[in-house]
Amino acid sequence: MDYQQILNQIEDELYTQKSTGKIASYIPELAKIDPHKLGMHLYCINSGHYHFGCNDERFSIQSISKVFALTLAMSLLGDDLFKRVDVEPSGNPFNSLVQLEYEQGIPRNPFINAGALVISDILISQLDNPKKDFLNFIHQITDEPSITINTDVFKSEKEYSYRNAAVLNLMKAFGNIENDIDTVLDFYIYQCSIEMSCKELSKAFMIYANQGKKLIDNTQIISLQKTKRINAIMQTCGFYDEAGEFSFRVGLPGKSGVGGGIVAIHPHQYAVTIWSPKLNPKGNSELGMYALERLTTLTGLSIF
Ligand code: GLN
Repeated sequence: MDYQQILNQIEDELYTQKSTGKIASYIPELAKIDPHKLGMHLYCINSGHYHFGCNDERFSIQSISKVFALTLAMSLLGDDLFKRVDVEPSGNPFNSLVQLEYEQGIPRNPFINAGALVISDILISQLDNPKKDFLNFIHQITDEPSITINTDVFKSEKEYSYRNAAVLNLMKAFGNIENDIDTVLDFYIYQCSIEMSCKELSKAFMIYANQGKKLIDNTQIISLQKTKRINAIMQTCGFYDEAGEFSFRVGLPGKSGVGGGIVAIHPHQYAVTIWSPKLNPKGNSELGMYALERLTTLTGLSIF
């Protein structure tokens, strides 16, 4: 498979695409990013790295961090975790509160904000030094020790986190949050404000394409069963109320963030990341979805 030729074709097509998407502005600091940034990086198990554009430039990973948080929490807590968060698609926006009320404070899945906040609560209870340990986990799977947060994005989201605070308060009222709300919110915003490049994200997500193992040295980071489960949750819930559309068009497990990044994996083949900050109305990168649809169409490979 000539991945570089396919990526070059996708790049050419992207420059002619008319985008109606909008950059995320509810976190004011994110609105400062150049909306025309574009990078893509594919890391293939058998043949290495392919890329175009600013694939090496770091951006705000936002909700992509929820996959790392879930992975760590599953390693620490095992199946007990799923007593506190379900694994069903929500069919609702990522920051929605509506289902929590009639589901007694148990979020639909770990990738909507409510579910990710429960995972944050679990990590705070389980880890000695939650922020440091979380970053260390990312350093371990990427071998990139300089990865860290953007403090301006962190402060900016903290100032405008009324909705996530509301979600936390409701879940606390139902008894599904152990720690105090400010501590959980602080940790959640911290993980969302981590910056990574397309290349670093593809390296990190290789563990999900490669049966839970780092490609570089075969270290088993998570079990095969947990890898299967995390990939299944990415497939069914990774794009909120657009998870069906992403499956339909792209056909790979993946996760998006409001920083404009999307990571997807093809088990046993590759991990791929695209960054384009303009988002569609569901909060997913508009050109990112287009590029990944073209990738699975031009390669003729998807999990289906
Ligand atoms: N930090 C963002 C929020 O909580 C993450 C959302 C996202 O990337 N979908 O609103």
